[in-house]
Amino acid sequence: MLKGTGVSSGIGIGRALLVEECSLEYTPKTVTDTAEEIKRFQSAVDIFCENTEKKAEALKISAGVEEAEIIQGHIGIVKDPFLLGEVGKRITEGQCAEAAFESMCDMLIGIFSSADDDVTQQRGADVRDVKSGVLSILLGVNQVNLSEMPPETVLCAKELTPSMMAEINKEQIVGIVTETGSTTSHSAILARVLEIPAVMSVPDVMKAVKNGDTVIVDGSKGDMIVSPDHAQAESYTVRRKKLLEERRELEQFRGKATLSADGTVYELVCNIGRPDDAKKAMESDGEGVGLFRTEFLFMDKRSVPTEKEQFEAYQKAALILKGKPLVIRTLDIGGDKEIACLGMAKEDNPFMGCRAIRYCLKNRDLFRTQLRAILRASAFGNVSIMFPLITCVEEVREGKALVEEIKAELKAEKIDFDENIKVGIMAETAAAGVTADLLAKECDFFSIGTNDLTGYTMAADRGNGEVSYLYSALQPSVLRMIRNIIEAAGKQHIPVGMCGEAAADPLMIPLLISFGLTEFSVSAPSVLRVRKYISGWTKEKADEITAKVMSLSTRQEISDYLKTVI
Ligand code: PEP
Ligand code: MG
Repeated sequence: MLKGTGVSSGIGIGRALLVEECSLEYTPKTVTDTAEEIKRFQSAVDIFCENTEKKAEALKISAGVEEAEIIQGHIGIVKDPFLLGEVGKRITEGQCAEAAFESMCDMLIGIFSSADDDVTQQRGADVRDVKSGVLSILLGVNQVNLSEMPPETVLCAKELTPSMMAEINKEQIVGIVTETGSTTSHSAILARVLEIPAVMSVPDVMKAVKNGDTVIVDGSKGDMIVSPDHAQAESYTVRRKKLLEERRELEQFRGKATLSADGTVYELVCNIGRPDDAKKAMESDGEGVGLFRTEFLFMDKRSVPTEKEQFEAYQKAALILKGKPLVIRTLDIGGDKEIACLGMAKEDNPFMGCRAIRYCLKNRDLFRTQLRAILRASAFGNVSIMFPLITCVEEVREGKALVEEIKAELKAEKIDFDENIKVGIMAETAAAGVTADLLAKECDFFSIGTNDLTGYTMAADRGNGEVSYLYSALQPSVLRMIRNIIEAAGKQHIPVGMCGEAAADPLMIPLLISFGLTEFSVSAPSVLRVRKYISGWTKEKADEITAKVMSLSTRQEISDYLKTVI
């Protein structure tokens, strides 16, 4: 079995087809008629743009307008005045069009690829794609055409460029495996939109597979099996059938409102960690973002992201969501989330130490920078601010006072922001659970973080296997905390969501409906499934089950009972 990153879920079983790159080698020449050479280059650019337009048109139909824009972006790259100007200069100095264009592209690829953010690296991949497109026209080489493939083909390649992906006929391709690429590469986005199971970053695929080999692609787990034995083939065929049936059933919930069986409307949004994940939230039919974990912007960075960098990240997510809700959680660091660039002091008990809101309130410059970036991004969408790990009213008041200070600052600087931006909290500590009535008076909304709420209520570390028997949101104590938080929000007429993992647990959903939860924030792949779960309950039935659950004394009794009624 070969391992990689699963970037598009599902199982594909078919015959391998190795996509070999055409050779684009040439011998650089010195040109004398430079005007003629510039003309030759210009005509190659024109043909490239024409071909790209055609691919974009086809992609608009097979995938959608936004996906077509990925390819259309290549026209912008090749027509970039700086690039064209530099290529023209090099040709005038006597370089042939191939050498002038290739050297310029290589320079840009070098710059983009060495960036430490995915988006800029992706731009490097796009320039590489443009380079081979234009070079193959200049050299008269026919590029690989993926539009006509035998049925049940698994494409195996070193790299599949977006322009190759644009040609794919999803009726013929049942899986994709590449040696390069990641979840955020454009090809991965296209694979997800086309619903083709895909695994990327699999080392040495091109050596491990021969044309015609039977191949299984497990895009959910990131596995690839070459020449499976009979038992493997059978078990994956059964799983594939089940998955397809489930997907077909879940597809009926796409584009629909999130409604219980008696017509109550719920908000069903997603948890994200990076701005680009907002795209995944939309692709999965999420109704917005209920939790943007901003600490990911700080991880693996050599220095703390600047206001500009953070603003651009939040603005990007807001623009992708086009007015749908975007709840940005301020930095939730400490505990198990270490951030090297902050150089935080070591603590004996970091889960109870100076973390999250506590750290931000002590490190005002860091907090101010983040709040300024969020407030500025609020001019571009429906943005809210959420504070993590709140334990007392003072923390909320201090955080909100800082928000007000920064609002005044931005106003004086004539910088746009949403004056009515909502400020809420994560209800995820035992203290917040018990004093939810007091906190509700200070906030515009709650979001229950059951991952931490369970840990802090049960005094059980969420990552410690020795105490995992205690760590469950179905513990009577945790359920009482959740009920208390939801009831307190209801009394204060503020919305209350849940962004911990429990929000997607089918056993939990009737209880949350009965308690009065208004928003479910889940991972993108869970959206349709949670919508389906919610659609199966009326308030009356949920109340009946919840009454019984709240009369039971142990987690085991509760989960055993719930399994009999769900
Ligand atoms: C939670 O604690 O439930 C939560 C959603 O936050 P995180 O998992 O990021 O701590
Ligand atoms: Mg948490």
